[in-house]
Amino acid sequence: MTDAPTTSLGTVYGYPRQGPDRELKRAVEGYWAGRVSAEELRTTAEGLRRDVWRQLTDAGLGEVPCGDFSLYDHVLDTTVMVGAIPERHRSAVAANRLDGYFAMARGTRDVAPLEMTKWFDTNYHYLVPELGPDTAFTADPAKPLGELREALALGLNPRPVLVGPVTYLLLAKPVPGADPGFEPLTLLDRLLPVYADVLAALRAAGAEWVQFDEPALVQDRPRAVLDAVAAAYRRLGSLEHRPKILVAGYFGPLGEALPVLAQAPVEGLGLDFTGPAAANLDDLARVGGVLGKRLVAGVVDGRNVWINDLEKSLSTLATLLGLAGQVDVAASCSLLHVPLDVAAETGIDPEITPWLAFARQKTAEIVTLTRGLTRGTRAIAGHLADNRAALEARATSTLIRDPAVRARAAAVTPQDARRAQPYPERARTQRARLDLPPVPTTTIGSFPQTAELRAARADLLSGRIDQAAYDERIAAEIREVLIFQEKAGMDVLVHGEPERSDMVQYFAERLDGYVATQHGWVQSYGTRYVRPPILAGDVSRPEPMTLRWTRYAQSQTSRPVKGMLTGPVTMLAWSFVRDDQPLGDTARQVALALRDEVADLEAAGIAVIQVDEPALRETLPLRAADRPAYLSWATEAFRLTTAGVRPETQVHTHMCYAEFGEILTAIEDLDADVISLEAARSHMQVARELAEAGYPRGVGPGVYDIHSPRVPGIEELVSLLRTGLEAIPADRLWANPDCGLKTRGWAEVRASLENLVAAAREIRAEA
Ligand code: GLN
Ligand code: ZN
Repeated sequence: MTDAPTTSLGTVYGYPRQGPDRELKRAVEGYWAGRVSAEELRTTAEGLRRDVWRQLTDAGLGEVPCGDFSLYDHVLDTTVMVGAIPERHRSAVAANRLDGYFAMARGTRDVAPLEMTKWFDTNYHYLVPELGPDTAFTADPAKPLGELREALALGLNPRPVLVGPVTYLLLAKPVPGADPGFEPLTLLDRLLPVYADVLAALRAAGAEWVQFDEPALVQDRPRAVLDAVAAAYRRLGSLEHRPKILVAGYFGPLGEALPVLAQAPVEGLGLDFTGPAAANLDDLARVGGVLGKRLVAGVVDGRNVWINDLEKSLSTLATLLGLAGQVDVAASCSLLHVPLDVAAETGIDPEITPWLAFARQKTAEIVTLTRGLTRGTRAIAGHLADNRAALEARATSTLIRDPAVRARAAAVTPQDARRAQPYPERARTQRARLDLPPVPTTTIGSFPQTAELRAARADLLSGRIDQAAYDERIAAEIREVLIFQEKAGMDVLVHGEPERSDMVQYFAERLDGYVATQHGWVQSYGTRYVRPPILAGDVSRPEPMTLRWTRYAQSQTSRPVKGMLTGPVTMLAWSFVRDDQPLGDTARQVALALRDEVADLEAAGIAVIQVDEPALRETLPLRAADRPAYLSWATEAFRLTTAGVRPETQVHTHMCYAEFGEILTAIEDLDADVISLEAARSHMQVARELAEAGYPRGVGPGVYDIHSPRVPGIEELVSLLRTGLEAIPADRLWANPDCGLKTRGWAEVRASLENLVAAAREIRAEA
C-alpha cells in the first residue's frame, strides 16, 4: 500500500464493564445484599468507567465510547432512556430509580422481571422490552448524559453509544395482554421524537458524535422494515440540534440495508468486515462507497479471541480509503463479548498465548492499524513482523494439529452418521430391553447443585480435601440422588451430574485441543459471567470422561441409568471457536471424541444415553440463507456422536430454547430415539408442532418449568400430559421437567418429581 498520510481514528463500540477483578459484579451483588450502599455502587461504577476510558485513551484510541457501560444491561438502559417502563414496575421505579431498575431486571417477590433472551447469536442476554399499542415514550437521557459529562470532564473525546431506534423496537415483544400479533416497530413514529430529545440533550452537553447501534439490520428484513430504517434516519438526520450520527451494523453483512444506510442523511457508517461480513466490502463498492461519510471499519473481530491478521486488515482498510470520506479503525462490535486481558493468563501454554487477543490486545491492534493507515506500514514494521511470525507459528504449530484426528475426520462416511436400523425396528428392540411403562418418567440430568457440593469443589481446589475425599462426596451425592429417584418411582434414572460445575467446561477440561482460561470472564447477563473455554486445536479424547460415575451410578440400581453428554454443537456454541478451519470441521472432531465416549458407555451396559444440544437452536445463523449449511453440519455432528450404538441402545437428546419452529426438520434429522424439550410455558405447543410435522419418535415435552421454585400440582401435570397425549401416543410420550434441576433446591425438586410420577401413573391408568 502507499504511505500517503490520511486522518484516521481508532475506536471501539464498547468495552467489558466488569473491571479487572469483576469489581462490578461484587458491587452490584453487594448492593442487592445490602452490604454496599447506593453511593458506593455509584462510585465504583464511575471509577470503572474512568479506568476504561483512560486505558483506551492511553493505548492510543482517538475516540472512546460512552454510555455503553451498564449496571445490568444496555437494552434495559435504553428502555429507561425512552421511558418504556412496564406498568407493573412503574411504582417501584418512581419510588427509587435504582431499585426499580433492578426490579425490572430481576423481579421482586410480587412482580415478574422482564424476559431475558440472547443478544443476536452471542452468549450475552438482554432484557426484552415490552411494548404495546398504549406505550407512551418519554425521554430520560440522564444516564447517557451523565456518562458523557464524566468523560468530557476527564478531557477525553467521548462518543455516546445508544441502541438504535429500529433495533430497539425489533428486539421488543408485545406487552403481556396485548394482541400477540402487535408489531412494536409500528411505534417508530412515537419513539423518534424521544430519540430526538436525547440527541438534542447530548449535543447541548457537548457531544460531537453519537453512535446508534443497529445490529438488527444484519438479519433478513422485509422491505417495510428497510423503509422504516430509511424514514427513521431521514428524520433523525434532518434534526437541527443534534450531534453527527454514526450508524453501526454488526454481527454480519448489512446486505439490503447497506444501500439504505449509505443514502441516509447521517455522517457516519460503522461496518463489520470480519469473517462472512467481509461481503460488506464488495457491497460498499457496488453502491459507490460513502464518499461523503465517515466509515468506521470493524476489521478486528470483536467476538473471538484470536489475533488479527494485520496485513489483511491493512489491505481492507486501503481499499476502503477509496470508498469513504474518512476511514477509522475499530473492532467489529463491542468488545463486551471477549475477556479482558491475555496477560492475566499464566496457565495457558506459552506457545499459544501469542496467538490470542482479548479486549486489551484488540485495542492495541486497532491502534497499530490506525497508525499503519495514517503513517504508512513502515511506521508499524515491527508490529507487522511480530504479527506475521505469530500467525505463521500458529498455522504450522504441531500443538494444534493432530494427524490422527484429521485422518479420522477425513475418513468419516455417511454410514458412520446413520443408525444401523430405522427407528420403528430399533424402538421395538429398545422396548423389549428397557421394559418401561407407557409415558415413562425421567429427568434431564442434573439434580440440585447444593452448597455442600460447591464447597467440596472449592475444598478440592484449595487443597483442604484430597481427590479421594472429594470423590467420596460425589459418590455419596450420586447414591442419594438415585435412592430418591427409586423411592419416588422414576423410570429412567440419572446420576445427577454432581461432578460437573458446567456442562461444557467439564468436557472441555477433559478433551485435548481445548484451552481453559483462568480469568477469561465474559458477561452472560447481569452479574453472571462465564469463562468460555477456547477451542485451540484438533480435538481428541485422551481417556473416558463420564464413564466412571455413570458406571458407578448404574452399579447402585437395577433401573436404567441414563448416560449424560454435552453434544458437539453446544460444545462449540459455548466456547471460543477456531477461526482457522470451518466450524463444521471442528464440530466433526468433537463429535468423534464424543462418539468414543458413547461407545464406552454402551460397552459398560448403559442402555440409555442422552446427548444434550440446548444450543442447536440458538446458534442458528442470523440469515436464512446460511441456515441449511449450518443445520447440515450440526445434525451430522450429532448423528456422528450417537449413530455408532447398537439398535437396543436408546439415544436421547434435550433442547431448551422456546422457539423450535425453525428447526423441526433438523430435530427429525438428529434421528434420536427420544427428545426432551422445554414446553411447559407454551402449554405443550412444541408437542403439537412436532406431531403436525409428522415427528415419528419419542418426545418428552417438559411439563414443568424448572426456572421457577413453584411446585406443580398433580392435576396440572395430568392435564399437561393429557394435552401431550393428544399429539403424541402413549408409547412415545415421556414425562419429564423442562430442563436440568441444578439451580433448584431439594425440597421443591422432591415434591415436583413425586407429583410428576403420580401424574404419569394417573395418565397410564386412563390410557
Ligand atoms: N443435562 C443438563 C442438565 O440437566 C442439560 C442442561 C441444559 O439443557 N442446559 O443440567
Ligand atoms: Zn435444558
